[in-house]
Amino acid sequence: MRSTRPDKGTDKKKRRGPPRRKVCPFCADKNARIDYKNPAALKRLVTERGKIVPRRISGVCARHQRQVALAIKRARHIALMPYAATGAAA
Ligand SMILES: [Zn+2]
Repeated sequence: MRSTRPDKGTDKKKRRGPPRRKVCPFCADKNARIDYKNPAALKRLVTERGKIVPRRISGVCARHQRQVALAIKRARHIALMPYAATGAAA
């Protein structure tokens, strides 16, 4: 017997524009160190709400993303960075 459900292979991925190659900012700049004592540098790698930005967004490579995640967690532990956004808009 044949199932009569509609074809599923009809949805196409929509991605406009040329594929931009993201290069890891830490690989690009050898002087850029990932330091948990420097929350200002880590701030760009977390969202407004304090979440770590995923690699696919930030473009950081796997190796450096691990270091970034560790640094952010350390920074949180010593209260240099928030675990979660505080304030009225929660
Ligand atoms: Zn890297």
